[in-house]
Amino acid sequence: MSNTVENRSIIVTGSGRGIGRSIAEGLAKEGARLVIADIDSVTAEATAAEIRDAGGQAIGIVADVTDRASVKALIARAVAEYGRLDAMFNNAGIAQVKQFNDITEDDWYRVMDINAMGVLICIQEASKQFISQGGGGKIVNTASIAGKQGYEPLAHYSASKFAVVALTQAAARAFGKYKINVNAICPGVVATDMWKLIDKGFKDEGLTNRDNEAFEGFSADILLGRASRPDDLVGVSIFLASEGSDYMTGQSMLVDGGMVLV
Ligand code: NAD
Repeated sequence: MSNTVENRSIIVTGSGRGIGRSIAEGLAKEGARLVIADIDSVTAEATAAEIRDAGGQAIGIVADVTDRASVKALIARAVAEYGRLDAMFNNAGIAQVKQFNDITEDDWYRVMDINAMGVLICIQEASKQFISQGGGGKIVNTASIAGKQGYEPLAHYSASKFAVVALTQAAARAFGKYKINVNAICPGVVATDMWKLIDKGFKDEGLTNRDNEAFEGFSADILLGRASRPDDLVGVSIFLASEGSDYMTGQSMLVDGGMVLV
């Protein structure tokens, strides 16, 4: 039993930047063969190129996790490149800071589409690939502390992350017989560009004072004394993609510096 990911073929969605990028870089450093999947073609290719420049193996692919045809094509491309798929990290997600009563139906559907339905589609397509390979395989979803507690002003985001935790448990039940491990990581407050998303829309328009306040507020009570860096999620990601976690499924692990104790 080992925690190596060497030569494992791994897709990480939303890995053009932020947490996904750090996870992909960390896995590549350990010898995994990476597919950098992102809706943003520029960052997907740039991340893959940097991994290759550092001596790792990676290709960048444009994929939209809300579009089944796009996810199917992503997995097909990974298999064409590396011969098989060993792990699928369903990390792509968006956030929106908005007061409870200001959340519109459009806000709800947008957040739920990417964060929840996107994870559903990716689990479905990855599990089909794993089953066609004869079973085994790792699915790792990025949930959040907001998948363990409902946060304000992040109600629709929290609902989407509770959905990720539920999908993790349900998929673990569905695919245990194929020896597919399905687990989730629940980060706390991580310093990424996600915090630039503002309540007027979903565009990166620079970090507003209001987002800064939200970030500081969330960071105040962390037992380990600081907000998370994206690379704080690397160790657990290596573990969940490796043989070491073969007897673990359906779990949503908090990696939050002690922000939420449950
Ligand atoms: P980020 O905004 O920095 O990165 C998200 C990436 O996902 C971007 O590269 C973006 O282009 C990509 N993406 C967005 N929509 C997509 C789609 N439809 N298809 C494919 N890719 C898409 O955010 P991050 O902070 O790195 O967040 C990554 C994950 O971690 C998200 O699921 C987020 O909810 C979760 N998370 C973040 C924090 C935090 O504090 N930053 C905390 C807990 C959980």
